[in-house]
Amino acid sequence: MNDVTPLDLRIEALLADAQYDDHPLRGALNELYGEFRSQLHLIERVTHVSDLYQHMAREQNQSLLERYRRQLKKLEKIARISDRYQAVMRDLNEALKDASNHDALTGLANRRMLMDALRTESNRLLRQGRPMTLVLADIDHFKQINDAYGHERGDAVLVDIARAMASSVREYDLCGRWGGEEFLIVMPETGLPEALEAVERMRRAIAALHVVAGEHNVTASFGVAEHLPGDHLSATISRADTALYAAKKLGRNRCEVAPAGSQPASPAAD
Ligand code: GH3
Ligand code: MG
Ligand code: MG
Repeated sequence: MNDVTPLDLRIEALLADAQYDDHPLRGALNELYGEFRSQLHLIERVTHVSDLYQHMAREQNQSLLERYRRQLKKLEKIARISDRYQAVMRDLNEALKDASNHDALTGLANRRMLMDALRTESNRLLRQGRPMTLVLADIDHFKQINDAYGHERGDAVLVDIARAMASSVREYDLCGRWGGEEFLIVMPETGLPEALEAVERMRRAIAALHVVAGEHNVTASFGVAEHLPGDHLSATISRADTALYAAKKLGRNRCEVAPAGSQPASPAAD
């Protein structure tokens, strides 16, 4: 409510004073004062409504702000979950890629990864003209180990052999499981003399393994073939296989080198 001012008091006193009852201006003053009071009342109501409105607007703003903050928190949480999810997906993809390129038993490169490496290396060979050598290795009389000690023990021996081979080759050679008890070693930028040194290291490392508490030794035979620019990959693998067969025939636990390949008809496309 509006405060009563001294002027209000004076006017109200004048209007109440009986000596001015018949004054010609009294009626006009009374009307004017009444009009003034009602205008004042109107202004007070408008101010009140405006205050209310402002209060409501402020409250609404605050609740909007609150809602905005809550949404922001939710979004942050979703972003964190999404980051975690993406990281898990990345890890899973890596694991999947790893699993599709590696042999589950020995952890060596599998046939798919070996084929990829062979293609990459033979293309590089074409560009740079550097030789590459392939080695096929096959465990001697492996069936006997399975028969004598069981398949599970045979698996463990394969793991030991894989480890012995992988640690005998050089860093840039790729030793993988070609299948069963056969292994393929890709030796990029390597000619025969160097390759034969690595093969001899592998042969010795395998022969030195004590398969079953020192009772049974295991050996491997090797077939080596040099791959020259333009050779077909399948032809080189086949030459290595023939050399391996020869090593078996000649008594096992040894290495044979394939004769040089026949002249290639076209650049390596296989
Ligand atoms: P050779 O000297 O002529 O190579 O004789 P071998 O006995 O090694 O050859 P053969 O081909 O007769 O037998 C290979 C054996 O390898 C038979 C097969 O059961 C075994 N083998 C292949 N893959 C695995 C495997 O993953 N685990 C186990 N335990 N044995 C395997
Ligand atoms: Mg075999
Ligand atoms: Mg064998």
